[in-house]
Amino acid sequence: MTFEEPVYRPPWEARSMLLAVSQSCNWNRCKFCYRSKDYAFKVADPATFRRELLMQRSFYPADTRIFFVGSNNFALPTHRLMEFLDIVNEELPDHGRISMFSRVDAIARKSDEELRQLAANGCTHLYVGTESGNNDALELMDKGHTAEEAVEQLLRLDNAGITYTVFYILGLGGKGAGAKSGRETAELFNQVHPKQISSTGMTVTEGTGAWDMWRAGEYEKASEREMIEELRVFLETLNVASVYDSYHMLNPVHVRVNTGDEQEKAETLKQIDEVLSKYSDDQLDAAVNRSMLEESCKPEYAA
Ligand code: SF4
Repeated sequence: MTFEEPVYRPPWEARSMLLAVSQSCNWNRCKFCYRSKDYAFKVADPATFRRELLMQRSFYPADTRIFFVGSNNFALPTHRLMEFLDIVNEELPDHGRISMFSRVDAIARKSDEELRQLAANGCTHLYVGTESGNNDALELMDKGHTAEEAVEQLLRLDNAGITYTVFYILGLGGKGAGAKSGRETAELFNQVHPKQISSTGMTVTEGTGAWDMWRAGEYEKASEREMIEELRVFLETLNVASVYDSYHMLNPVHVRVNTGDEQEKAETLKQIDEVLSKYSDDQLDAAVNRSMLEESCKPEYAA
């Protein structure tokens, strides 16, 4: 492959066959994003993609899941995505689900018929960068969609038979926005049917728009305590049955909870309360060590 960008994949795709479809992001404007800024947007040519698949094939079971590597592959025109799906269907006919990252507006640009066609050809799961239900935070970070648009597009995925994992960034709105963001993000997800909800904690990395805003005094970071309090509001307000998972290293606390199980949720809220009451702000900051995490997000350290 002629791609220079490090490979990013969700933790749940650790055992999947990773096939590079594109690098960089055709949007590349989200101010929190540290991923794709330094790389030219490129799409794999189908012949190279096929060679890559054939090279990897013997290392995976016939029914392996497949992840299409690339920051926003779902934005590719449907006929180009279909070329890649067709190759997988020809060379690995018994494959498991095929998934990829998608922006909300990439879904909006596909017709219902196109969504159904993609699902019928194996693309049955998307990782969608919803990020927050707080429209002020989404606008501040130039995310390019609103919470209402996210609901509309996720419901279209439901209708097309495409399941989805949604992403949530604790602390996205900065200092003072946590409780509102927690409540409004839960209200967003309550209207749809996420298979999984994955969070990270806002990490302001050098080279991003958020870093520039912070250095200019236009953005104040939420503390670790505020992010944990936001998570508490979020989980308390959330009433959709899903799996919430905060095992990503950027989270201020690490929990996994079946949100449809009231007892499990109550136990998780109790654990969060214990963390909040037991540790001082300084202890929380030291335990999370966000400045080290900021360093580790720089592209040169990405795995
Ligand atoms: S967060 Fe996603 S959509 Fe936004 S710039 Fe980064 S890769 Fe692109």
